[in-house]
Amino acid sequence: MKYILSLDQGTTSSRALLIDQNGKVISKSQKEFKQIFPKPSWVEHDPLEIWNSQLETAQDAINKSNINAKDILGIGITNQRETIVAFDSESGKPVYNAIVWQCRRTADFCQKLKAKSQKLIKEKTGLEIDAYFSASKIRWILDNVVRQTVETCYGKSLRFGTIDSWLIYNLTGKKSFYTDPSNASRTMLYNIKENKYDKELLEIFKIEEWMLPKVIPSNGNFGLTDKKYFGAEIPVHAVLGDQQAALFGQCCFKEGDLKITYGTGGFLLINIGEKLKLSENFLTTIAWHCKSLINQTPTYAFEGSTFISGAIIQWLRDGLGIIKDSSECEKIALSLNSNEGVYLVPALVGLGAPHWDQSARGTILGLTRGSTKAHIVRAAVESMAYQIADLILPVKNELPKDIFIKADGGATKNNFLLQFQADLLGIPVTRSSQTEATALGVAYLAGLKLGFWKSFEDLQKTWHPDELFVPRINREKEYTLWKEALKRSLAWDIIK
Ligand code: ADP
Repeated sequence: MKYILSLDQGTTSSRALLIDQNGKVISKSQKEFKQIFPKPSWVEHDPLEIWNSQLETAQDAINKSNINAKDILGIGITNQRETIVAFDSESGKPVYNAIVWQCRRTADFCQKLKAKSQKLIKEKTGLEIDAYFSASKIRWILDNVVRQTVETCYGKSLRFGTIDSWLIYNLTGKKSFYTDPSNASRTMLYNIKENKYDKELLEIFKIEEWMLPKVIPSNGNFGLTDKKYFGAEIPVHAVLGDQQAALFGQCCFKEGDLKITYGTGGFLLINIGEKLKLSENFLTTIAWHCKSLINQTPTYAFEGSTFISGAIIQWLRDGLGIIKDSSECEKIALSLNSNEGVYLVPALVGLGAPHWDQSARGTILGLTRGSTKAHIVRAAVESMAYQIADLILPVKNELPKDIFIKADGGATKNNFLLQFQADLLGIPVTRSSQTEATALGVAYLAGLKLGFWKSFEDLQKTWHPDELFVPRINREKEYTLWKEALKRSLAWDIIK
């Protein structure tokens, strides 16, 4: 038997999975790492902790399985997107903490840019101008860390890497500094029509192309791991951003197929095929761009990104301290027959799609003397579903009638959430038997290259629903009240 090692570098933890030729996970390892909040709405990670935790989980998954590293024929990497690591390529050391996708420090900069360049940037990148994407984070580091203090020390050795490229750089003993188009398309510097970094965008953000990782196909040759890490040189065969990997892992290969991932954030992706389209409701992004997989053009996706999904449950645990473990949420939510008019808008870092309000802030409405922690927990779980409804309901009529939603991510363990989502949308929701769609997606891509699977049809056979949630209760009234609650959270950072 031969294997693929899948590295899944998420926002809250690093994971490694060993997957055999049948797509079976034979061992896995996971390690949470520190979330750093230096100021309200700033979010950072320690790049060395990201790298070390990823390496440790990979080594741990291999050790637990008792297989020989020589039987691992390839590595796939999937990762939190948009997050940026600045490092010195001479020493290999980070020059600052990683600025995480959720971080809002560049919101003002982006607000000003919107007035000038919104149309141009949407047309070239498919993205909305927002602090979410990498470009303004790079600009911030250049302005605040490099330019004012140590520019002369770095000279031409300064690099800005997406998380995949930072891992590849370290895994290959600092030999390769590559990324793939699905990750590059989230930097706001990549032209998704011409499939390259865009000169005009680089000028707008005053970023030099040599600072950035080279973009190669999602199933390209990303380099060999340094022998010292696993005892063998293993080729990195596939790279996909986490949401695109989940789309692949859920076997959403056909135009119109869609999935929702409920992780730290909540992400809806719809495969829109090989023709680039722009939408008012969604971002357009590159799903994957592969060498000789089908053809030379990328597969595109519409994406609705909501910043805080499962993260609101973490906040209940770590911020409020009203639950000890996320697994308690379902039971607590179900201890009430309804939300009794309590709504929580989780705009802790502003609101993403479709509202794009950087100055919205978290809100709890409808509290009474009878309210308990159960109301807040239920409102938090419901909010994960309402945010997805905000994305899907406006376009529901354009979706095929027989559609169903494939759900994955850590929070899909919560049956109440998935049932509530199905009720709210009036669309069935399935939890796939593979809750690890993200890690599997990039393993599938590597496996296609290695010949473990011959075609998309082959992979499709591996996908099985675990549980189906069909709509049961009409939730229109709740949804109307949610929209009212949402209005009250908007622009709060400006008003205050
Ligand atoms: P990521 O890959 O973004 O780090 P995961 O897919 O591992 O995220 O999902 C973890 C998220 O899921 C956390 O934010 C956690 O709070 C949430 N979560 C885990 N279990 C539950 C649950 N039973 N109900 C609601 N949310 C949950």
